Amino acid sequence: MYETCPQQYKFTYIDHIADEYKQPKPYLTMGAHVHNSLKDFYDNIEPTERSWDVLEGILRRRWRENRSGFADREDEKNWGMRALQMLKAFYFKNDITKTPVMLEDFYDMDLAEDIRVVGRIDRVDEEDEGLHVIDYKTGKYNKEDVSDLQLIIYAMIVEANSKQRVHKASYLYLTTNQWYSLDISSDMYEAVAEQLIERVEIIKQDKELNPRINKYCKNCDFIDICPKSEEVKQLIEKKTLPNI
Ligand code: SF4
Repeated sequence: MYETCPQQYKFTYIDHIADEYKQPKPYLTMGAHVHNSLKDFYDNIEPTERSWDVLEGILRRRWRENRSGFADREDEKNWGMRALQMLKAFYFKNDITKTPVMLEDFYDMDLAEDIRVVGRIDRVDEEDEGLHVIDYKTGKYNKEDVSDLQLIIYAMIVEANSKQRVHKASYLYLTTNQWYSLDISSDMYEAVAEQLIERVEIIKQDKELNPRINKYCKNCDFIDICPKSEEVKQLIEKKTLPNI
């Protein structure tokens, strides 16, 4: 977040006002339901009982619990269909009998005396070569947004918590069932840890935390209180937000 916009980072992690300004978003509601449905499916259903009807039932039940962020019934229906299609592709194109060893939880590790790195790990499978860390993506695959760094950080956190070797880390783009995988070796960790420590230093030294107008401003909850509010709104209206 800091790298996208230091001001947004300040509002969220220094001023702690995100709860006050947070607006429900359809893609976040849908994404949470897809993640939670997959968690319930693996956590609560025995491999022999896993079927498409069961997974669909879980999604429908989860959906009734939270229906916020949609413009109207039609919009909600479209997002619901999207979620169903993602789970359908997942169910019919993957081995659903596997039982993950970690599922949808926060794990952390100490990086330095005063730096702890935290990651929400979607899923970890045990394979012959070692552990396989999987991060589900409910957005579309976009080559520019793919981050090897994030995968290595996840692998590092999982290895520190499980004390088992991680051999692979992957994003699974649920819309198209597309996998992006990275072979992991533990000699990647030192450079990544150094990079993270450097980035934390940069944040600590930034006393201004200025707004940085970017392509995600249109989804920012702080538009109304952003020091560049007027400019951002004009750019959104003209559809000319910078592609950064
Ligand atoms: S509207 Fe844009 S520039 Fe302003 S805080 Fe949000 S992300 Fe940053």
